[in-house]
Amino acid sequence: MLHPAWPWLIQAAFPLVTAAWLGADRPFLALGLAVVFSLSFLLVSLSSQNLSLAWVALELMALAFILRSGCAFWRKRLRHEELQADHLEEEVHTLEGELARLKDHESGLEVRSRRYLLLRRAANTLGSVLALEDLLAAIGEELGNLIQGADRVLVYLMEPENLTLELKSVWQRGERVTIKAKTGDPFDGWVMRQAQPLLVEEPSSDFRFPRDVARQVGRPLGALMSVPLMTSQRVTGVLRVESDTTRGLSSDDLRLCHIVADLATLGIENSRLYQRTAQLAATDDLTRLALRKVFEERLDRALQESSPGNRPVSVLMIDIDHFKAYNDSFGHTAGDKLLKRLGEMVSAAARARDLAARYGGEEFVLLLAGCSGQEAAQRAEALRSRVEAVELTMRRVQTKTTVSIGVATSPQDGTTPELLMRRADERLYRAKASGRNQVCAG
Ligand code: GH3
Ligand code: MG
Ligand code: MG
Repeated sequence: MLHPAWPWLIQAAFPLVTAAWLGADRPFLALGLAVVFSLSFLLVSLSSQNLSLAWVALELMALAFILRSGCAFWRKRLRHEELQADHLEEEVHTLEGELARLKDHESGLEVRSRRYLLLRRAANTLGSVLALEDLLAAIGEELGNLIQGADRVLVYLMEPENLTLELKSVWQRGERVTIKAKTGDPFDGWVMRQAQPLLVEEPSSDFRFPRDVARQVGRPLGALMSVPLMTSQRVTGVLRVESDTTRGLSSDDLRLCHIVADLATLGIENSRLYQRTAQLAATDDLTRLALRKVFEERLDRALQESSPGNRPVSVLMIDIDHFKAYNDSFGHTAGDKLLKRLGEMVSAAARARDLAARYGGEEFVLLLAGCSGQEAAQRAEALRSRVEAVELTMRRVQTKTTVSIGVATSPQDGTTPELLMRRADERLYRAKASGRNQVCAG
C-alpha cells in the first residue's frame, strides 16, 4: 500500500528536478518554475490542512534554492576555469612562437658569428702573406671558405702591357687547381668595363648576356659573381666566385665578396710594395746589380745544391784596372758612369741562372751555377775583351778601360763560399800582378 502522501511528494519533487535540470543553463527559469511548483504544493497542503506536508513544501523550496545556487556556483567556477585554460593555451602558443623566433635569431647569430670569424681570419691572412703567389692562393681559399655556395674561386690580375685579365689562381672545393681558361670571359669583361660588382644567379636567363655564353665557359656554371679589384679608381684585377648550383649565390654573398676584394686589393698592393722594397734593399743604387750579401747567400745555396752530384759552380771576380787614375783624370762622376756601364756589361754576361753583383767599390762578381772551370774561363775572357773594346766619351775625350778577372770553380778549388772566393781573389791578384787586362783561371 502506497502512503497517501506519495502523489504530493512526487509533485514536490518537481521543483527539485527542475532546479537541477535547468539550474545550470537557465537559472532564473529554473528558480521560477521551482517556486511556482512549491507554492502550488504549499497552497494545496494548506487547503487540505496537512501542515506536515506544508513543511515539506517549504523545505523543498529551500532545497531548490540551495540546489540552484550550488549549480550556479559550480557553473561559474567551471566557466572561470575554462577561461583560465583558454588563457593558458593562448600563453603557451605565444611562448612557442617566441621560442621559434628566438631559435631563428640564434641560428642567424651563429651564421653571422661564423662569418665574422672567417672574415677576421681572412683579414689577418691577407694582411700578412707577403709572397704574391701565396697571397693569391690565400685569397681564393679564404673566400671559398667564407661563401657556402662557392664551388670555385678564380683570381685574375690585369696585365699592364696588354690590359687583359690573366688567371693567377684557382680554388676548387678546398684545393688549388689549374683550369683551362687563362684569361677572363664576357662576365669578367663586363666587370672590367663597368667597374661594378656582378651577380648572375642564373646565367642562361640573364638579360645582360647572350643565352649561350655560360655554355662557352666550358665548365658547369649554375651561378657566379665577379667583383673588381680597384686601385686608385682603376680595375687591377677581378675576383670571381662560381657555384655549380643555379641560384647558389646571393646578394649577401656578393657583399662578403666585396669586402674580401677590398682586403685582397690591399694585400696585393702590400705584397708588391714589399717585393719592391726587398728588391731595392738587395740592389746597388748605382749599378742596379745585386749587393754583396745577396751574392753570398746565393753562392752558399748554389754550393749546397751542387754538392750531391758534384756539379760545378764557378765565380768570376772582376776588378777595374787603374780605376783610381781614371777617377783622378776624369772626376768622380765620370768614374760613376764607368761603373754603371761596366755593371751593365757584367749583367749582360749573366744568363738566367747566373747572378751578377757589385762586390765592393770597383769590383764585380759573377756567379755561374753549373758552369765548369773551362767554360767559366772562356766566358771571363769574352767579358774582358768586350770591356776592352768599349769606348766611353768623358769630357769630350774618348776613354777606354780594362778589367782583370780571377776565376775559381767548385769543387776543385774548394766547396765552401769562403774558399772559393779566396781562390778567385788570389787569381785576380795574379792577373793584376801579371800586367792587368787578363783572366787568371788557375
Ligand atoms: P788596380 O788596377 O790595382 O785595381 O788599381 P785601382 O786604382 O783600380 O785600385 P784601387 O784599389 O787603388 O782604387 C780603387 C778606387 O775606386 C778608389 C776609389 O776612389 C774608387 N772607387 C770606389 N768606389 C767608387 C765609386 O762608387 N765611385 C767612384 N767614382 N769611384 C769609386
Ligand atoms: Mg779593387
Ligand atoms: Mg781596381
